Amino acid sequence: MRIPLSSPDISEQDIEAVAGVLRTSTLSLGPKLLEFERAISGYVGAPEVIAVHSGTSALHLCIRALGISEGDEVIVPSFTFIAVANAVRYERAMPVFVDVDRQTLNLDPSLIEAAITSRTRAIIVVHTFGCPADLSSILHIARRHSLYVIEDACEAMGAEYEGRKVGILGDAGVFAFYPNKQITTGEGGAVVTNNPEVAIRVRKLRNQGRDDCEDWFQHSELGYNYRISDINCALGIEQLKRIETILDRRESIAKRYDRILACEPDLILPPLTVPGRKISWFAYVVRLGDRLSQVHRDWLVNEMRLRGIALGRYFAPIHLQPIYRSGPGKKSVLPVTECQASRALALPFFNRLKDEEIKEVCEELVRLIRSVKLGAL
Ligand SMILES: *Cc1c(COP(=O)(O)O)cnc(C)c1O
Repeated sequence: MRIPLSSPDISEQDIEAVAGVLRTSTLSLGPKLLEFERAISGYVGAPEVIAVHSGTSALHLCIRALGISEGDEVIVPSFTFIAVANAVRYERAMPVFVDVDRQTLNLDPSLIEAAITSRTRAIIVVHTFGCPADLSSILHIARRHSLYVIEDACEAMGAEYEGRKVGILGDAGVFAFYPNKQITTGEGGAVVTNNPEVAIRVRKLRNQGRDDCEDWFQHSELGYNYRISDINCALGIEQLKRIETILDRRESIAKRYDRILACEPDLILPPLTVPGRKISWFAYVVRLGDRLSQVHRDWLVNEMRLRGIALGRYFAPIHLQPIYRSGPGKKSVLPVTECQASRALALPFFNRLKDEEIKEVCEELVRLIRSVKLGAL
């Protein structure tokens, strides 16, 4: 693709830092792991940070460390990345899908209580595309029903809710560092928490269930190898140093898209600001208006691809995926998720996207949409 959907932003300094680790003899469980964890801790304000090799493994360890297991239910959105529901299934618990708010595409707090049963143990709140969810309502519901709250901040590093960084407001939070995220380690993730007991369990589970003691080979529970190498951590440290510049650049790309596309009546643009929240832009996702359908959306993706421009279909609802559709449990009724997902179109979005490229993406997209109006499809 001439203009991809996303692309990592790797500087010469990042490369030097990675090469520096390769010149040492400590490629894993070394000083860069501790330094990366300390840097995340300082940035998001979490007392405990445990870095792991993916956001998915971070989610899994939160579920496990909170004691969620077979027979338990966890409330999750369906309009998100499949790892959110998979992490619940890894522990044989059941994801219960709740619909989202039409504007922010985050969990709709007014629908959560109807989904709570005597088996519900937790809510996973996803800050979709970097826009913080309505945390105060959700935390309030969770407190009233004694539920854990896990914040999936994989798309939202640096976003703020009422002046506080997301990720640290529930019982545990997770971040991810895949190459399409705001900062990357290649592959990577982290659990953040205020709860020292959760932190001890997650740290142990990350490394084969080994107790944190002198005796390397004392195993008190079934753990995993979810470690992240010092090579990846060195990249993360460098990326995190630049996060303010990165978030500013991403915000200015979002504003530029907004300015150019604002007058196109067939596109619903994401809100640039939400009161009380600071958005950390992960993706720029527009939705097609009522005149256009999923058929037009898929046609647009193909036509743009022919012009060398990648568009994304974020997200395919989890409850409609074959492995969830045929599973046990009640059928999910999620009209907002299904409608919005069929009209969602992610535009190219990455730090190094040039202003001319933004202009070209918009011009091509608008031209194609207008051709629909002329009956070209
Ligand atoms: C990216 C992402 C994850 C984690 O992804 P990994 O590829 O495992 O790092 C989890 N949840 C959401 C909502 C994500 O966008």
